[in-house]
Amino acid sequence: MGDDRSQDQPPKRVVVCGGGIIGVCTAYFLAKKGATVTLIERSSIAGAASGKAPAFLALHMCDGGLLSSLARASFDLHSSLAEELDASRSYSFRPLTTLTISVGESELPSKSPILPHWVDGRVKPGEIIGTAETTAQTHPQLFTRALLAKAVTEYGVEVVTAKVEGVEEGEKGVVVKVAGGGVIGGDAVVLALGPWTSKLLGPSSKFKVHGKKVHNVVLEPKDADAITPHAIFGTYYPAQNMGPLETNFYPRPTREVFVCGALVEAEIPEGPELVSPDPESIEKLKRVAGIVSSYLAKDNVSVKSEDVGLMPCSGDELPIMGEVPGMKQCYVSSGHGYWGILFGPASGVAMAELVLDGHASIVDLDCFSPARFVK
Ligand SMILES: Cc1cc2nc3c(=O)[nH]c(=O)nc-3n(C[C@H](O)[C@H](O)[C@H](O)COP(=O)(O)OP(=O)(O)OC[C@H]3O[C@@H](n4cnc5c(N)ncnc54)[C@H](O)[C@@H]3O)c2cc1C
Repeated sequence: MGDDRSQDQPPKRVVVCGGGIIGVCTAYFLAKKGATVTLIERSSIAGAASGKAPAFLALHMCDGGLLSSLARASFDLHSSLAEELDASRSYSFRPLTTLTISVGESELPSKSPILPHWVDGRVKPGEIIGTAETTAQTHPQLFTRALLAKAVTEYGVEVVTAKVEGVEEGEKGVVVKVAGGGVIGGDAVVLALGPWTSKLLGPSSKFKVHGKKVHNVVLEPKDADAITPHAIFGTYYPAQNMGPLETNFYPRPTREVFVCGALVEAEIPEGPELVSPDPESIEKLKRVAGIVSSYLAKDNVSVKSEDVGLMPCSGDELPIMGEVPGMKQCYVSSGHGYWGILFGPASGVAMAELVLDGHASIVDLDCFSPARFVK
C-alpha cells in the first residue's frame, strides 16, 4: 500500500466518530488517502467490543455469501499491516490451526490425532476447519492502538476525547455536536459508533444496530508452555435438557487462553463502561473450559479477567456501510457482528474510497448500503 496523498486537491476534512476498530481503520485509510481527519471517541480507544474479542481471523469462512470479498480482502490487509506495523513488536499476529469439537459430560476423552494434547477432556473431535494459511489471530486492542498511533504520527489524525451528541447538515458539509456544547465541523462525517450508532441517529433512523453480549474469560494455565496455537470451536451439550452452548478457545502468545461464548441479546446502555457480564454466563464458560481440558480446570489456572463485549449487529447480519439516507455527507460503518475485527481494515479502505472518491473499489458496497432498509 503506497502513500496516496495528492498535492493537487485541497484535503477533505472528515470527522470519524467512534474509536473502535472500525472507526480507527476508517480514520487511518482516510488520512493515508489525503484527508484531514479528526477522530472522536468518548472513552478509550478499542475499549468496547474492539478490545474484548479473541480476534480470530479467517480467509475463507465467509465464502459463498455476500461477505466473502470483504473477508478475503481484509484477511490479506491484516497480513500486510502486520508487516507494516511490525506486529511482532507492537501487537501479536500469528497463524494457527482451527478445529471443531463437541463437548459433553457423557463423552469419553479421545486420542484423536487432530486434537492437540492439551484438549484431553470429555470431547469428541470434529474436523480441521482452518490451517495456518487460512486462519490467524491478532490482538484487537493493541492492533487498533498501533494503527491509530501510526495514523497520528504519520498522517496527522487528530484524536478528540468527547461524547458525540448529534450530527447535522451544515451550510457547507456537516456539524458534529459534542457534550459540553462544542462543535466540530467537516466536509463529511463517518459514524462508527458500534452498537451506539442508531442510538445517536435517534428513532427516525431507518436502520437499527442492536447489541449482543458475548462473554469471555481469560485464563492463565499453570502449564502455559503446554498450550499450542490451535483455535478450538466447541459446542457444549449440557446433560440437562438445555440448548447447546458455543464455547471457543483461543490460546494467545501471551501465555493466556481466551475463552468466549454465551451470547445474550442485550439492551444498549448509555456507554461502554456500563456493559457488565452476567455471572452465570461467566461460570458456564469456566466450567466448559474445565471439561475440555485439564490444563484449563479451576485448580490449574489463574483467572486473569472475566468480561463481556457488546457486539454490534444489524437486522440482516450484514454490515451497514454507506451514506445515511436523507443526510448528505453523513456516512455510517457499523453492524459488523461476529467478524468486525476481521473486516476492520477492508471496511476502512472501502469507507475512505467511498467518502473521498464517491465509490469503493476494494469491495462492492451496494449490498451493505443503509438504503436497503428504506422501503
Ligand atoms: C467476545 C467477542 C468475541 C468476538 N470475536 C471476534 C473474532 O474472533 N473475530 C472478529 O473478527 N470479530 C469478533 N468479534 C466482533 C468484533 O469485536 C466487533 O464486530 C468489532 O469490535 C466492532 O467494532 P466497532 O468499531 O464497530 O465497535 P466498538 O468496538 O463498539 O467501537 C465503538 C466505539 O464508539 C464509541 N462511542 C459510542 N458512542 C459514542 C459517542 N456518542 N461519542 C463518541 N464515541 C462513542 C465507543 O466508546 C466505542 O469505543 C467479537 C466480539 C466480541 C464481543
